Amino acid sequence: MENQTKTASNEVSLRTLDIALIVIAVIVTAALIFITHKVSNSYAEMKQATEDYISWQESATDMKLGSAYLTDQARNFAMTANVKYLNNYFEEAYVTRRRGNAVAALRTELLDDTDAQELLQTSLSQSTELMVTELYTMRLVIDANGYNVKNYPETLQHTSIKWLDSLLTPEKKIELARSMLYEDEYIEKKAQIDDNVQTCIDMLVQKTAERQQNAIEEARYLLTTHSLLVGLLFALIAATAMLTAFLMIRPLYRAIGNINANKPISVGGARELRFLARAYNSVLAATQQRTKQLAYDATHDKLTGVYNRNGYEALREQMDYASSAILILDIDEFKKINDTYGHDAGDRILSRVSSVLALSFRADDPICRIGGDEFVVLMSNTGLRHKTLIRKKIQQINDTLQMPIGDLPPVSISVGVAFGESYTDGDDCFKAADEALYTVKNGDRRGVCFAS
Ligand code: GH3
Ligand code: MG
Repeated sequence: MENQTKTASNEVSLRTLDIALIVIAVIVTAALIFITHKVSNSYAEMKQATEDYISWQESATDMKLGSAYLTDQARNFAMTANVKYLNNYFEEAYVTRRRGNAVAALRTELLDDTDAQELLQTSLSQSTELMVTELYTMRLVIDANGYNVKNYPETLQHTSIKWLDSLLTPEKKIELARSMLYEDEYIEKKAQIDDNVQTCIDMLVQKTAERQQNAIEEARYLLTTHSLLVGLLFALIAATAMLTAFLMIRPLYRAIGNINANKPISVGGARELRFLARAYNSVLAATQQRTKQLAYDATHDKLTGVYNRNGYEALREQMDYASSAILILDIDEFKKINDTYGHDAGDRILSRVSSVLALSFRADDPICRIGGDEFVVLMSNTGLRHKTLIRKKIQQINDTLQMPIGDLPPVSISVGVAFGESYTDGDDCFKAADEALYTVKNGDRRGVCFAS
């Protein structure tokens, strides 16, 4: 019992296996979906970093171009006094506003980067300082050319010329304006603005590279995990196929073979299949036992245990007459015994005769009760050469039966014998043995007669 329990705990249950596989598959699939989602996030971050970088680059370019444009217009105006350049300047400074827009855009983008913000702030202040110079030079050129300042933007109207400069001649004013736009201080400030913007852009490039690197690292890690999980899923599928083969398909195919051959199923595979195999085997064993019993009952005599008429018929079909002898034995005056000692005693005598016959002949020589008190012994590998032996056997049997046992009276048997080697047909041989028996019965009984 303990051993059985131990075996049962080692057996794999299909239901448990099924649940375990489903749970693992669900977990792995969920992890795969989650990782796929994260990879797509990493990709989006890489894309966003690139887009941000492009937009910052554009802003930086605008900043530089806007600044250069303003300088050009201021210088052109100083050189030519053509109002067109003045208008261009104010159009750029207050309408197009490439510089201002670029700084504003970068400022918004870089809310979390204080270093870059500070740099931009400085650039903006330097730019404003440059504009003060530029406006001053414009004001000088306007004055020198006698233009009415009221026709120009208010900023220009509010720019007042220093007292000493106002005393200069128009030529000197223009000369001063030009020199202010080309002097080292002006050019240095412009360069500083460009430098600051460039440093800011370099910081942004660094920041973008870091963002992209982080996203790439994360994506690489996620893709490695993804590959491992796909591998795990594959292993899971392979394991499922193998387990199904070992626990179900193989045992089932073996079972089918054994069922077709009417053999017990070998107990193996999953617990459920083992249970079925054990159940089938016990049903098969019971059926086979029952079939055997039925076959035995159909061919054997219940009272004596020797073959009955059916058994005898079956044996006759298989027997090789040419090398056999048929002995027909009949109890003498059995009716009288029944009448004198009763039917029960008669039954016990039938059993006793059967036992004595079984002891007297070889195990290979079947004994059959073919009628009420009539028996047949089929002796194999026997011929005329064994006449004396048979005669002696019958003599011995009768001697034994003459000895009373308990309340049973002595009995005797008459025997007719025919040898197959003398007949071409089994039926003829049987008839001859019967006739020989008849001869004994017609004589003194208790003896043997050989068919001639
Ligand atoms: P004979 O010497 O000529 O053979 O005389 P007999 O009285 O033996 O005559 P026969 O062989 O024809 O009779 C057989 C008897 O055996 C008839 C029947 O009453 C008896 N008998 C048949 N079957 C059974 C049985 O199963 N049990 C018992 N007790 N007697 C049976
Ligand atoms: Mg008889």
